[in-house]
Amino acid sequence: MLSVMTSVPTTPRTLDGLAIAAEIKSDVALQVAAAKRAGYQPGLAVVLVGEVPASQIYVRSKVKTCAELGIYSEMHTPAASATTEDLLALVDSLNHNDAIDGILVQLPLPAHVDTARLLEAVTPAKDVDGFHPINAGRLLNGSPDEQVLAPCTPAGILEILRRSGIAIAGARAVVLGRSNIVGKPVAAMLINASATVTVCHSKTRDLASVTREADILVAAIGRAGYVTAEMVRPGATLIDVGINRIETEAELSRFFPNDAARRESFAKRGSTIVGDIDPAAFAVAGAFTPVPGGVGALTIAMLMSNTVKAARLRRAGS
Ligand code: NAP
Repeated sequence: MLSVMTSVPTTPRTLDGLAIAAEIKSDVALQVAAAKRAGYQPGLAVVLVGEVPASQIYVRSKVKTCAELGIYSEMHTPAASATTEDLLALVDSLNHNDAIDGILVQLPLPAHVDTARLLEAVTPAKDVDGFHPINAGRLLNGSPDEQVLAPCTPAGILEILRRSGIAIAGARAVVLGRSNIVGKPVAAMLINASATVTVCHSKTRDLASVTREADILVAAIGRAGYVTAEMVRPGATLIDVGINRIETEAELSRFFPNDAARRESFAKRGSTIVGDIDPAAFAVAGAFTPVPGGVGALTIAMLMSNTVKAARLRRAGS
């Protein structure tokens, strides 16, 4: 007698970035309490140059999260006219300030400022953004996680995968995008975690044939809904890093045809956010990060985690 195997469609699992960020923040609060018992308080300095409204919002929420977790923080707000030399002097004073364990220079900086020079001036031990070439090199060299200050968004992606029990070792991972802040570091982290990694970019030929191989697909290209269901292997884990604002009815109808809550919020604000993955592709996934409420939710939690890590490493090294 023939036994008939029927495949039962499973509901894709939503990887809840907000819940994972809350777990990480409560771990960090415990580490801060332990640091205080050991006689020190981790401290973060945030440098915000000029008055970019989006940057002001990010910086305020970083400072607020520090307060919630017991991390000391200070904000430096030089005027938009500050020169590279002025900012180098500020970074130098923070490098030598013992109350400060992490220095975050909020990007973008005004066009006249030499961003690369400024980021390289942050001492690697306090580089909680993980952008300094020394830290990028350590990541590439496969230094142990607990000794590396890795960029926050990629580090958040690895936390989502690990805390959600997604198998990384041996998995085929495809990363779309090769930026220094997301694509390259997340590829390095996935290699370090023993995935088999392919990195794609705007010159990749026949992208869909590559993405369809992925058990884990990370999209970080900044193109609204670019990854469609046909580009996804059924059951794959989709990590959507993209944050793209859409402002037209046509885009709203394309990406959220039956989503009443989105329509309501779009009507109120005149825009909404979509990732780099078409939400219709989530239906064929095994698991996915929503936008918003996925990867983006982790970035500040990882900044806090890096600040306590930097405080610990600096004291261990001194
Ligand atoms: P980026 O610096 O603009 O880099 C985009 C990358 O995507 C480049 O490597 C580019 O290739 C590649 N690319 C562009 N179009 C492509 C296409 N059609 N096919 C294949 N590859 C393509 O971007 P990013 O800073 O990494 O950011 C990517 C997205 O993530 C943005 O939406 C950004 O807002 C978001 N983001 C989110 C967070 C968060 O906290 N959630 C943090 C950072 C960034 P080339 O190198 O060949 O040009």
